[in-house]
Amino acid sequence: MKAISVLGSTGSIGTQTLQIAKEFPNQFKVVALTAGKNLDLLIKQIHHHRPEVVALANENDLPELKERLNQLKSREKDFSNFNPHLFAGSEGLNIAASWNTADLVVTGIVGCAGLLPTLSAIQAGKDIALANKETLIAAGPVVLPELKLSGSRLLPADSEHSAIFQCLQGTPWPENARLSTGIPTPGLKNILLTASGGAFRDWSAQDLKNATVKDATSHPNWSMGKKITVDSATLMNKGLEVIEAHYLFGLDYEHIEIVIHPQSIIHSMIELADSSVLAQMGWPDMKLPILFAMSWPKRIETPWKKLNLSQVRKLTFLEPNTKKYPCMELAYSAGKTGGTMPAVLNAANEEAVGLFLEEKIHFVNIPKVIEKACEKHKQDLKSDPKLNDVIEVDKWARKEVRSEVQKHSHQMLIAT
Ligand code: NAD
Ligand code: MG
Repeated sequence: MKAISVLGSTGSIGTQTLQIAKEFPNQFKVVALTAGKNLDLLIKQIHHHRPEVVALANENDLPELKERLNQLKSREKDFSNFNPHLFAGSEGLNIAASWNTADLVVTGIVGCAGLLPTLSAIQAGKDIALANKETLIAAGPVVLPELKLSGSRLLPADSEHSAIFQCLQGTPWPENARLSTGIPTPGLKNILLTASGGAFRDWSAQDLKNATVKDATSHPNWSMGKKITVDSATLMNKGLEVIEAHYLFGLDYEHIEIVIHPQSIIHSMIELADSSVLAQMGWPDMKLPILFAMSWPKRIETPWKKLNLSQVRKLTFLEPNTKKYPCMELAYSAGKTGGTMPAVLNAANEEAVGLFLEEKIHFVNIPKVIEKACEKHKQDLKSDPKLNDVIEVDKWARKEVRSEVQKHSHQMLIAT
């Protein structure tokens, strides 16, 4: 039985993790939950999983959570002696993330907000099921040495990286080669990251000028949180995943390729030294990669829908269109520059996507403001950043993007 902490339990990754825990009660026990604002859902999750500890992102929401728990205790006899530890704020999230009885922490917080709790979990020696890619992208040079120090293991829950990780299980190399540690894996030559192409896959570059928030938040194949759905529409998600793959599997950027695969059946591939290519397949359902990160090194038998290739009929592949989607090249460039640049790319992207969702900038201007922030950061780049450097450039990039958008507020709403 593995004891699990779920960070961001009310989100898309968090709720799917809890569905898995519910479906396999003999394998997983939930000991810690953290959430942002959705108290209605959180209280239902507490009711089902009875965690030892719960933490909220915002201190102001704590009195309401206490009140609701008291109501539950007075309403249901079974809960009268149920007294989970309750915390809030940044320190509260860190406490829940490093909770002593947990074996594995699933990081389902969105954005760089996941960085400090993830680091706390690593420093406490917990294994990490990594969904929150922004943490590794912004702070790879800080996270990797911490893993080495604590011995905690980074198990990818992102579907592409899980696919690569699953393919690597079949290679007859030493134990450490099958774990993602940022150390180059012997014999692994290239990574082929597949991308669905996002919401605008079948739109022309000209049509993108009419893209709305509603269009960008509807994904053709995957059901996910809003931020990552917009990242998929700009293809920044794939760019971020290139950097994530670099830190996880230790390959240089020249050896990480993107291939558009509209059916999202092959979740990524690896090419080995002898030119053999291995692929992992499945329906586009995040439960499988999350389960593998939770159950590794075991595989758990599931009754889930069997992949039926005659129903899929065809698997197709296309080269990515970097002109229509400049975010991919911005990410490659930030990754190759390294140091604090990926943190700036990530923060500028989070801010730009937030502003797009607030309808303050047009979809096609997202890459433009990110590029500007990255360009400006070149003069202040730190090549071997510490945690404080990452936190500082993250703040700087957000402010930079906000002020740029404010300065040119009219142009920002127009697609040029
Ligand atoms: P989501 O928006 O659905 O959920 C985010 C969760 O984080 C919620 O529980 C929310 O309450 C919490 N949260 C938000 N801001 C917070 C803050 N400042 N402090 C603490 N908690 C906060 O997001 P999601 O789609 O589940 O994505 C979560 C992470 O997983 C992202 O990093 C994303 O890139 C990654 N990911 C998601 C998917 C997917 O299918 N959804 C796939 C691959 C990777
Ligand atoms: Mg992914």
